[in-house]
Amino acid sequence: MKVLLVSPEIAPLAKTGGLADAVGALARALVDLGCEVTLVMPAYRTILENNSQLEETGMEVEVPVAGRSMRGVILRTWIGKKLPAFLIRADSYFLREGLYGNAKGDYADNAERFTFFGKATLELARRTAPWDVIHCNDWQTALIPVLKKVHSQSYGEIQKTKVLFTIHNLAHHGDFPFSSWNLLDLDMQYFTPRYLEFYGNINLLKGGMLFADALTTVSKKYAGEIRTPEWGCGLDGVIRDREKDLYGILNGVDYQEWNPETDPHIKKNYKAKNLIGKKICKKDLQEIYGLPVKASVPLVGMVSRLADQKGLDILIEAMEDLMHLDLQLVILGAGDQRYQALLDGLPGKYPEKIGVKIGFDNALAHKIEAGADIFLMPSKFEPCGLNQMYSLKYGTIPVVRATGGLDDTIEDYNPSSGSGNGFKFSGYSGATLLEAVKRSIAVTYNRKAWRQLMAKAMACDFSWGKSAKEYLALYRKLAETPILKR
Ligand code: ADP
Repeated sequence: MKVLLVSPEIAPLAKTGGLADAVGALARALVDLGCEVTLVMPAYRTILENNSQLEETGMEVEVPVAGRSMRGVILRTWIGKKLPAFLIRADSYFLREGLYGNAKGDYADNAERFTFFGKATLELARRTAPWDVIHCNDWQTALIPVLKKVHSQSYGEIQKTKVLFTIHNLAHHGDFPFSSWNLLDLDMQYFTPRYLEFYGNINLLKGGMLFADALTTVSKKYAGEIRTPEWGCGLDGVIRDREKDLYGILNGVDYQEWNPETDPHIKKNYKAKNLIGKKICKKDLQEIYGLPVKASVPLVGMVSRLADQKGLDILIEAMEDLMHLDLQLVILGAGDQRYQALLDGLPGKYPEKIGVKIGFDNALAHKIEAGADIFLMPSKFEPCGLNQMYSLKYGTIPVVRATGGLDDTIEDYNPSSGSGNGFKFSGYSGATLLEAVKRSIAVTYNRKAWRQLMAKAMACDFSWGKSAKEYLALYRKLAETPILKR
């Protein structure tokens, strides 16, 4: 099985969130199963500056973008020994501070940047064919299934190749004003509600969903939720139309990257049978955040994009009450300026109770997983969520809202039977969040019960093996089915 796995971000090369972790780890797990995977992503500044192992391939691609011919130089790097990644280098598009934007917001030319990326990837696929499957991820790659099907005569070499499209988050549409239509090289018949039009705008995600041969999303629960108007982000009708081609496959964890026994970022490694290292990590985390170093106070951690999706409004709503509980709270996040400002003001008000760091800091994210006792994810919706699974491995008990992948992976703790691996709440409010945090803190006072809960959490296995097998089975099924015209 030869698979071209295309994503706008892939760990460890470039990352803004869980998408990068998921694609990077899936690729490695597929390679372990004997699948021939090649990655494709843009050659961002961070990769060009931080990666010393970039090879010239001698290949270049030229594609039309809004009447101009734009050139991409194809570089190659390796993740480990067996996983090659093609990097499409076009400095006018990708040699920038951020992947999708900077502190001022999204780049104004994102439609053009990722139109180029999609077209250049198709050209690269054609030149390096044969491929059984091109596996695309999120809106930045959504033009690939559209153009491959609409302009199939231009892509004879990959005519038999199937395209799988994974939706990591249905809320990110890649929507752009009609003025960007000329970038795409699509006939006006495709700018209708049946195809890429969405309330007068272009919706790239919708295009990907309509034209791919099959769709996946990142948990079974989320695959069900997005069929409904409540969680379908206006695209639930498209999801229902493609229901028989949609599969929910849970993301896994890369335990090479997220494992307290080997993690190079944390103060002291530890394992379930000897948790002394975790105590040292807790002290380290309290020091980093300038909080009183106390072993006994429950330390709650949160690492999150600061976006509406992540439940920050109900966290803020509950904050006053939380600050009156016996706990400390440490937060790491970046994103929405409004939330940054709200959070930034809190340590001044409650210096003994809360520490906030704004920014993207992978090492600190690992330190929080290791040093905290409890990990908070009050998301409004969560397609899969990775941090709750990382937390389990680090013996840091998740408190989550019962939605999407959080609901699929966390079972509510039952104090009488001892069953469960975390704490869940359903209603979306400050009060329900507070109640779940209180429940978790109450259990920390029962040392024996908490130890048992930690041991159970650390024994959970969310490795990629099982999910990668499901992807491989889907690739095989796709490769065997005839091409359908839409
Ligand atoms: P999402 O992909 O919606 O952001 P996930 O829980 O699936 O949420 O994945 C988030 C990933 O991004 C985790 O690996 C988490 O540690 C990381 N992350 C999020 N925000 C930050 C940050 N500010 N600094 C470092 N890592 C972060």
